[in-house]
Order: sequence, then structure tokens, then C-alpha cells
Amino acid sequence: MELSILPFAPLTPRPAFLEQSDDAFRAWLAEQGQPALRMKQLRRWILAKRAESFETMSDLPKDLRAALTENYSPLGTRIERHLEAKDETHKLLVKLHDGRTIECVLIQDAPRRTACISTQVGCAMGCVFCASGLNGVVRNLTSAEILEQLVRLRNLTPEDGRLSHIVVMGMGEPLANLDNLVEALEAAGHKDGLGIGARHITISTVGLPPKIRRLADLGKQYHLAVSLHAPNDRLRSKIVPTNEKTGITEIMEAAEYFYEKTGRQVTYEYVLLGELNDSPLEARELSMLLSGRKAHVNLIPFNDVEGLPYKRPTDNAIRTFIEVLQKGGVSVKVRKRKGSEIDAACGQLRRKVESGQA
Ligand code: SAH
Repeated sequence: MELSILPFAPLTPRPAFLEQSDDAFRAWLAEQGQPALRMKQLRRWILAKRAESFETMSDLPKDLRAALTENYSPLGTRIERHLEAKDETHKLLVKLHDGRTIECVLIQDAPRRTACISTQVGCAMGCVFCASGLNGVVRNLTSAEILEQLVRLRNLTPEDGRLSHIVVMGMGEPLANLDNLVEALEAAGHKDGLGIGARHITISTVGLPPKIRRLADLGKQYHLAVSLHAPNDRLRSKIVPTNEKTGITEIMEAAEYFYEKTGRQVTYEYVLLGELNDSPLEARELSMLLSGRKAHVNLIPFNDVEGLPYKRPTDNAIRTFIEVLQKGGVSVKVRKRKGSEIDAACGQLRRKVESGQA
């Protein structure tokens, strides 16, 4: 497959403007003899007007631009790798200030432009088939690091383009970093920001019941996706180790609570692993589990991860699984495969680069 590796900008050691708290930055502005409203202007330049340097912010006084350039950088991350697939899927390997790397992806399917973003360096959940969690979790991302992924991906779109959707399906468990995530999504939703409303944002979780309830209580219109992957506890605990502690019943109750509070239908993700959870028996059990609930199933055929023993389901197994669910009255879709030649599935590029294979 043909792919292009594009150039990247150098990392600057100065602190990122987006990481600054309102109070600290206003104090700095006051020292420069500048009004507090500059803060808003700066955010607008970066979030809405795509500025990646202070010099281009033409309505700021020249000496302020110079002082900003000397003391801060607009963004705190560097693009370490940029891969573009033939289907216009872009994948960025982003280097953070501490040298750690994370991944984010831009998926273009006109008229949609979807950003898939990470919330943690690594992941602690340990789902057996997932590349992101193979080495555990290192740390949570800050809200600025989450927001920056959106800015970087949006800056790849044409000048008159924008991101239409966000899926929080990159590296990490979003609900284990809920506060920083929500802060970043709030900023993204702002009309002077990226203008992406909660209804266009999907948060995918391994299923942490207390956090699902907390998210529901926020009263936002986010769409929730729960990674179920198995219809019973015996099988799920084998595939998703955190299930040992929670169990499917508690997760379903929390998801039901989310639906009651927000009125938004919950999606259940189900990674189809060949000969492990893809038989008609599991499909029947899944349809029974979901019957009578306002639910939708998103089937994800396993994306190969080097070194892991799992395999993709056969086309026949996928077809039968869908038929059984539909017979049981369950709404179901198979996730489209995008950017497969650039390791677009989460955690794979980072793993290759860190092991020296890419
Ligand atoms: N921690 C969150 C977000 C993970 S990524 C969660 O568990 O939902 C989003 C989805 O991609 C999850 O359903 C995850 O299980 C799935 N996924 C991870 N690795 C995959 C792979 N190799 N093939 C197919 N789907 C995968």
C-alpha cells in the first residue's frame, strides 16, 4: 500500500499557552501591561483560526507577540509521525512534552470529518486483544493535550473545513480521565473553539459503572459506547480483565441509567475475535441480553495486532452474527475499516515506532 510520511515541526521547550491556567496567564498578561481579554483572543487564534505561531496573530500588538514567542509556544506537542492513507485517513503520532507518545486519527467520510483521540498514555484496562494496553498505563493526558489532538487534526483539514465529530476511541480509558476529558470537550464545543457539540461526540468506555453514572449526571448530550465484547461474564472476563470486578449486570444497569438521564441510546461495541466470541451461540445470547433495551450494536472485526494470537472473524461468521442479532430485533452495524495500511487501529503505530519497526 502506498503511504506518505509528511514533515513535522520542531518541538519547543517553552511551556504551552494552552496548558496555562486562566489565573496564571492573566497575571503574566498584567505584568506585560496587557488586558485580560488577550487570553480570549489567543484561544480564538489557536482554536478557531488555526494559528500555530504567535507571529501570525495579526491583531495583537507586536511587542506582545514577541514576548509570547519568547516565553510560550501556542501548542505543547510535536508531530512525531504523520501518515496519510489513500482513503484520506490521517494518523498522527504526537510527542508530548515529557517525550511520551500518543496517537490520534482523522477519518474522512464526506460529509463527516471525525477525530479519534486518546485520553491516556497507554491503558490500564488490559483488554487482551488491544495494542494500547500491552504495557499498562503511564499517565493521564492533561485537558490541553486532549484538546491539542483536536486542533492538530482540524489543522489538517482544508482551510474552509472543520471537524464534524469526535470519537474518544484512541488510547486509554476515557472514563478513567473523565475530568480532563470533559474540560477538553467543553473547550472544543465552544463557538469560539472548534464548534463541535456534545451530540456529535462519542465516548467509548470499557464499562466503569460509577463513572458512567457520573457522566450521565453531567447532563450533557454525549453519546456513550460501551465495549461489551462478550454476552456473559465467563467469556467477558477472559477478554476484558476488568470485568472480573464489575460484571455485565452492573454495566448494563449503569448504561440504562445513562439512557434514562440523557435520553440517548447507548451503543454496545463488540470486537469479533475469530472462533473466540463470534459464534451464533454468542450472537443469540447477546440479542437476549439486549432485547427490550434501547441499544445498538457496533461490530468491530478484530484488527490484527502483531504478536497477539487473535484472528479476524471469517466473512461468513460476521454475516451469521449479524443475521442472528437482527432476527432477535437488535439494531446492528459493522464498523467500516479505514486507514488499515497506516495502522489506524489504536496503539499500533506507537508500538511499532517504540520498538524500532517503523
Ligand atoms: N478504553 C475504551 C476506548 C478503547 S478504543 C474502550 O474500551 O472502549 C475503542 C474500541 O476499539 C474499543 O471497543 C476497543 O475494544 C476496540 N479495539 C481495541 N483494539 C482493537 C483491535 N485490535 N481490533 C478491533 N478493535 C479494537
